[in-house]
Amino acid sequence: MKTARVALLLCCVTAAAQTPSPLRVNGQRINDHLKELSRFGANPPGGVSRVAYSDADLQGRSYAIGLMKEAGLDVHIDAAGNIVGTRSGSDPTLKPLLIGSHIDSVPMGGNYDGDVGSLSAIEAAQTLREKQITLRHPLEVIVFQNEEGGTIGSRALGEGLDEKRLNLVSQSGKTIREGTRAVGGNPDQLASARRQPGSIAGYFELHIEQGGTLERDKIDIGVVEGIVGILHSDVTIEGFANHAGTTPMDQRRDALLSAARFIEKVNLVVTGVPGRQVGTVGWIKVEPGAYNVIPGKVVLGLELRDLDEKKFVGIFDKIRAEAEALGKLNQTRFSFTDPVISHPALTDPEFQKLIGDAAKSLGFSFKLMPSGAGHDAQEIARLGPVGMIFVPSVGGISHSPKEFSRPQDIENGANALLQTVLAFDKR
Ligand SMILES: [Zn+2]
Repeated sequence: MKTARVALLLCCVTAAAQTPSPLRVNGQRINDHLKELSRFGANPPGGVSRVAYSDADLQGRSYAIGLMKEAGLDVHIDAAGNIVGTRSGSDPTLKPLLIGSHIDSVPMGGNYDGDVGSLSAIEAAQTLREKQITLRHPLEVIVFQNEEGGTIGSRALGEGLDEKRLNLVSQSGKTIREGTRAVGGNPDQLASARRQPGSIAGYFELHIEQGGTLERDKIDIGVVEGIVGILHSDVTIEGFANHAGTTPMDQRRDALLSAARFIEKVNLVVTGVPGRQVGTVGWIKVEPGAYNVIPGKVVLGLELRDLDEKKFVGIFDKIRAEAEALGKLNQTRFSFTDPVISHPALTDPEFQKLIGDAAKSLGFSFKLMPSGAGHDAQEIARLGPVGMIFVPSVGGISHSPKEFSRPQDIENGANALLQTVLAFDKR
């Protein structure tokens, strides 16, 4: 596997075909389906607002169910509210291979996030049906419910949904529990939707990159190494609120001044070591918040992300040490809440190789890359090996009506997915 990894890392070349299956998806059909799906919840600037459990979500889901039935899948909605389409394999002793994504969106979202992967998975099944190909593995095409609200449907399969999460109010105004029921699930029977670790052969998800790397580097396919882990900590800086007119500059304990220095320091620490880690101060609250009062207290939100948890925890420790020193400059005090960490989910190295080989066999350029955004695949990684395929997002824009992926790139991604599934099945 080591050498395969190295080969992948040295990739980004358009290689000659190596006995690919001649099977291809119908790219026109996927793009037509994308257009059709975008009608449900269409927003004025040209994207969709199809938040989970809304009427638009229900309409989009019934459209997807129709396509899945046309593709010859046996469709049911599991207790968690996921749409599951199954196709038998020729070897009943094999565990199922899962492919899919989601079709819910953020408010004022675009037409590609989740939709590309969901419709391409359905197209793969449709292609297999039309060419009368039976895989050895049973195939499950899954459209997960409410990905944008916290990977709810896929989480239900792996980690499970506890009471606290079921009671959360989603963007639609419904709780997760109410919403799960509204889409045809049964929140009282969630145990029946859970899957055991080791119960699946694997999961492949095609998705738009949602960043601009592939487009910038003119690469067709991203082979995802993993979904980054995330660390959050609330940072409080305490100074002393005093009169902004009468307190001399050398006698101030200005919490906001320390915060400003801190924000710059976060950027310096994060960029001060090689790698692709990212760090952000995304919000800030200042007290008391007036023209004529020196800020006495600041609370801000620090976020760090990377594929390597040890690395971002190390960076967090370094930032804390730097904060200590900054506080001394103007007698302010920094304190950090215990970091809340969502762990990175790595994709399977062998799956990475399968995807890279599939891309190569189709004549596509590809490269290994992390996913900075969360995906259903991170939840399914608890159950078995997962792999993810990225296609370019024009301008790196996502979660916006301006989100766009070119029809050819979508077709390429769907073909890479289909070839990967065939190659996996042949192993
Ligand atoms: Zn998504």
